[in-house]
Amino acid sequence: MGKNIETICVQGGWQPKKGEPRQLPIYQSTTFKYDTSEQMARLFDLEDAGYFYTRLANPTNDAVAAKINELEGGVGAMLTSSGQAANFYAVFNICQAGDHFITTNNIYGGTFNLFGVTMEKLGIECTFIDPDWDDEKIEACFKSNTKCFFGETISNPGGAVFDIERFAKMAHKHGVPLIIDNTFATPINCRPIEWGCDIVTHSTTKYMDGHATQVGGVIIDSGNFDWDAHADKFPGLTTPDESYHGLIYTKAFGRQAYITKALTQLMRDLGSIPGPQNSFLLNLGLETLHLRMARHCENAQKVAEWLQKNEKVAWVNFSGLKGDKYYDLAQKYLPNGGCGVIAFGVKGTREDAIRFMDNLEFISIVTHVADARTCVLHPASHTHRQLTDEQLMEGGIRPDLIRLSVGIENVNDIIADLEQAMAKM
Ligand SMILES: *Cc1c(COP(=O)(O)O)cnc(C)c1O
Repeated sequence: MGKNIETICVQGGWQPKKGEPRQLPIYQSTTFKYDTSEQMARLFDLEDAGYFYTRLANPTNDAVAAKINELEGGVGAMLTSSGQAANFYAVFNICQAGDHFITTNNIYGGTFNLFGVTMEKLGIECTFIDPDWDDEKIEACFKSNTKCFFGETISNPGGAVFDIERFAKMAHKHGVPLIIDNTFATPINCRPIEWGCDIVTHSTTKYMDGHATQVGGVIIDSGNFDWDAHADKFPGLTTPDESYHGLIYTKAFGRQAYITKALTQLMRDLGSIPGPQNSFLLNLGLETLHLRMARHCENAQKVAEWLQKNEKVAWVNFSGLKGDKYYDLAQKYLPNGGCGVIAFGVKGTREDAIRFMDNLEFISIVTHVADARTCVLHPASHTHRQLTDEQLMEGGIRPDLIRLSVGIENVNDIIADLEQAMAKM
């Protein structure tokens, strides 16, 4: 029987047998020993499962991937060395030169560059749509070579909530999977697969780790997309892979075809694996994810309400606030709260915003978000500084936007720090 999410956070993944370590061991080894040449050969042909080289599989990494897979309700998961690598692999696993895919224009700045600049250089074209467009206008962006639709459950930094069911239906109508970056919501607050999403990704660097100790990512396969039904679109999954003696992923691995290809082909060739030590740290974070997310959301709700009432604040975007543009979608997809990230602007100039941030005491300015410690960032001068004001606005990021990531300290202390910094503005 399936366990509840809190129990999976604590108990999922590593299952020690008699006399084995209770806590997940760090298998800090590149390689694994076998007795005969034949045993090793069978591993290389994917005829037997077993560890042989950490780039392809490592017991520490696998245990953590298994826990996240269970949290998201997938059929298989693969850890990567960063969230960037996870999103790249998730798309590149089914797109090649000459292909096209669609995403929203409000996604994380790093993903925006990856899709719009770097993948373009690989011959993969991306169309950035505005999720506020009507269905007809968005559907007109699908082409015969379109291979997937990509979105973020809660966009970073704008806080837009993605209408998962709407876009899952649209993607499926055009014979392609929906891929969702679920970094901000985490599986505690939203499980996109339950709403029709096919592939889920995360930057585990954020809430999953929660303590700012490791950079990592993960891809989870729902196993629900029928690649064979659209075989002509996905030859990488439905025709022989010459690098494995003509193996066909959908025939050999069924519902795990997509995630097996990502691991045995992309990870083998591109090699962005996390170190086992990092996976151990990620697992420690996951053990308390359910407790931390609840507190992040509770604190953020109080801080957002305080900001909204503050006369020095020009505007607040937080989908937990009644009247927020995304309130209704948040009630549907994120009934227990979304995340601890609030976007807001202070009245005055861009310099006033910077002065406010510089006046903060324990709330620190860091290029990070979704950490136990409250922190702030000004995307226009930090993470998104490559974008023009026009591109920022298109992505729903106002040049005066301050991204406040509310931590799990006492909420009264967080508000007091904000208040004293505003007083000095
Ligand atoms: C941070 C982030 C990423 C990139 O992840 P890294 O671990 O920094 O490579 C991708 N998507 C979202 C939503 C993020 O917040």
